[in-house]
Amino acid sequence: MVSSCTKYELRCNECGKSFGNRPLSGCPDCLAPLEVQYDLESVRGRFTRETIAAGPANIWRYKELLPIPEGFLPDLPVGFTPLVRAKNLGKRIGANNLYIKNDAVCFPTLSFKDRVVSVALANAQGFGFITVGCSSTGNLANSTAAQAARLGLKACILVPADLEYAKILNTQVYGARLVRIDGNYDHVNRLCTQIADEYNWGFVNVNLRPYYAEGSKTVGYEIAEQLGWRLPDNIVCPMAGGSLIRKIRKAFKELIALGLVEPKDVRFFGAQATGCSPISQAVKNGWDYIEPQRPNTIARSLAIGNPADGPAAAKMIQETGGWAEDVSDVELVSGIQELAEDEGIFTETAGGVTTAVTARLYSQGRITRDQLTVSCITGNGLKTTDALEGCFATERAVKPKLAAFDEYIRAVDGRLISDVALAGGAR
Ligand SMILES: *Cc1c(COP(=O)(O)O)cnc(C)c1O
Ligand SMILES: [Zn+2]
Repeated sequence: MVSSCTKYELRCNECGKSFGNRPLSGCPDCLAPLEVQYDLESVRGRFTRETIAAGPANIWRYKELLPIPEGFLPDLPVGFTPLVRAKNLGKRIGANNLYIKNDAVCFPTLSFKDRVVSVALANAQGFGFITVGCSSTGNLANSTAAQAARLGLKACILVPADLEYAKILNTQVYGARLVRIDGNYDHVNRLCTQIADEYNWGFVNVNLRPYYAEGSKTVGYEIAEQLGWRLPDNIVCPMAGGSLIRKIRKAFKELIALGLVEPKDVRFFGAQATGCSPISQAVKNGWDYIEPQRPNTIARSLAIGNPADGPAAAKMIQETGGWAEDVSDVELVSGIQELAEDEGIFTETAGGVTTAVTARLYSQGRITRDQLTVSCITGNGLKTTDALEGCFATERAVKPKLAAFDEYIRAVDGRLISDVALAGGAR
């Protein structure tokens, strides 16, 4: 029998030193992030279009290139979200070949964070942690709480005190201990680093971060597979810590190296809210470093002022010939509404950012009309309904009588009636 074990280990991005497999967030020598490196030769033959197609309809179909400990039997059907052609939005913004990768409907907690958490918690179990946690801007909290509950792990989750109510409730309902910290995400994250060491807890995005981050690659694998094993010309991706955008590129590189897709230089475009845009500022200024910011935006899921993978993300975007843009809170709310009205997809503030940035990249001519472009929608609008407060009037109640309805509808939206009459006449 062929060995079913993929070989991987942690390596420092800067000095290249290896650390085997253990809970560790950064290189002790140069403090750079660690990355999981695979022996791709050990995977060849076991990771093909055919073996993948024979796998389950979720991220575990790509398990040969995910760092999961021996003996772990994945059973939660995470990911494999729809990739849909966006014709109507395309018409609005001048795009002829635009797709939406829709992680607003990712299982089980409606954001792409379900992908990273499932890989992180597999490793938390492998390393024998009893308590897990995270520092979160919201979606990570929801996903860690939900998946920890299912695995029977204890969870303690730290968030900035001013988080949206829905994201707080969506964490507590799973029975996790939620601690609101009087500070912003960067304060919360620093505290979590200390807590992880002090109590020996497994923090998915701190001491388990290298494993966590690999879960994001599945967005890239899925996009390639759903395009019929082709790579797109462009990816537009929201950025918080700057991890997801880099891992989509890593996924594409692995697929090229293993011969699953034709080589192609995909360009990567990052999206941020202007109120927290350290990575897009770096790209626009051609910097290879990040100037930390104090976040001030309603796009809270992207509000990381000092992103861990920011320098690497900025560098990578520039290498690929891509770009990064940022939009105001007013523009991101329009982005939410346009995606909903055009494609029937209700995304959260981060998706509003991505949609508005995508539109801007077309209007700037950085992305041209016929290029195959995938815009990554990463979270669900039901979690950030506060963002749309005041956008829609609550109408007065109408009497349950046809005459009352007729009078009302002519007053508020006469077009509805004339359109109906036309359709009837055509029959
Ligand atoms: C966390 C998050 C992101 C950004 O992820 P990073 O890997 O930290 O850049 C994007 N969108 C949503 C909805 C998120 O929750
Ligand atoms: Zn190092």
